[in-house]
Amino acid sequence: MLGPVLRGAARSDTIRHAVSTAPVTRTVVDRYVAGERLDEALRTVRSLAAAGMDVTFDHLGEDTGDRAEASRNRDAYLALCEALAREDLAAHAEMSVKLSAFGQALPGGHEVAYENVRPVVERAAELGTMVTLDMEDHTTVDSTLAILAELRKDFPRTGAVVQSYLFRTEDDCRALAGEGSRVRLVKGAYDEPAEVAYQNKRDVDRAYVRCLKVLMAGKGYPMVGSHDPRIVAIAQELARRAGRKQDEFEFQMLYGIREAEQRRLVAQHHRMRVYVPYGTDWYGYFMRRLAERPANLAFFLRSLASR
Ligand code: FAD
Repeated sequence: MLGPVLRGAARSDTIRHAVSTAPVTRTVVDRYVAGERLDEALRTVRSLAAAGMDVTFDHLGEDTGDRAEASRNRDAYLALCEALAREDLAAHAEMSVKLSAFGQALPGGHEVAYENVRPVVERAAELGTMVTLDMEDHTTVDSTLAILAELRKDFPRTGAVVQSYLFRTEDDCRALAGEGSRVRLVKGAYDEPAEVAYQNKRDVDRAYVRCLKVLMAGKGYPMVGSHDPRIVAIAQELARRAGRKQDEFEFQMLYGIREAEQRRLVAQHHRMRVYVPYGTDWYGYFMRRLAERPANLAFFLRSLASR
């Protein structure tokens, strides 16, 4: 029951203010967020790279309220591109973007988001790296996949995320499983209605496996975005059956979650990419991480109570 409440709270400005200003929040947030500043995130990435891991950067931000803010978010990613070039990290680091941070929810937002994301994808390609479009709530899926299709005409390595909790996703996987396509499969982190999404964890997990079968059997590059040990084992088996070599798919996990498992997969010579969020706008991301695991919320509340 708590999950939907927390995911709802992720979009409440009042709760945002209360949580963001609570003195102990910072220590709990640090578990999931690599820092508020780019240099802190770069330090994290250097240590992950030394441990044999690749990363995808997320400059935190979502649900942008106006065009100026959307432009600032674009510029933050362009600055990130220059930092990757300067620090010689482009071989290890790609970028994940939320189109709502680029203006997707504004009037005319589809076009605004496309115009803002394109220069980032273009600069990433010049540097030899790429961009993956994160997936947000179900109302954005058509627009996000249409922007993906447009970008892939010139930048075929642009990736997308699909969420197994949505009924539509198995079909989306079929459509996206072609040559050169990069697809991150996740379970889904938003509070979705029963008309469009499975509500029961077991159904979401089963759908994940069905979608993964499609992606592994296809011609694209599957990115297995999950911390679930059962999913990891199934992915290894499906890749083996599909005759995929270890560089023909990758695992992805979030910064701060199941780090021992991340190292274990690297030791088995799998490609492991860690999703590294940084920036000051961490509230929505943080609340979704609390919602995923009741123990996280208990830890957060205990920290508050012990002050
Ligand atoms: P679960 O069954 O939820 O978790 C399996 C195990 O992982 C748990 O038992 C626990 O041990 C551990 N775990 C999971 N979550 C946490 C947590 N928050 N704190 C501590 N331990 C935890 N969702 C989207 O909707 N759109 C996206 O674009 C998106 N991008 C993602 C990118 C990456 C690289 C990853 C890994 C996830 C992304 N997600 C995204 C989130 C995803 O949808 C899930 O909400 C999240 O990954 C939890 O699902 P799970 O597959 O890990 O399985």
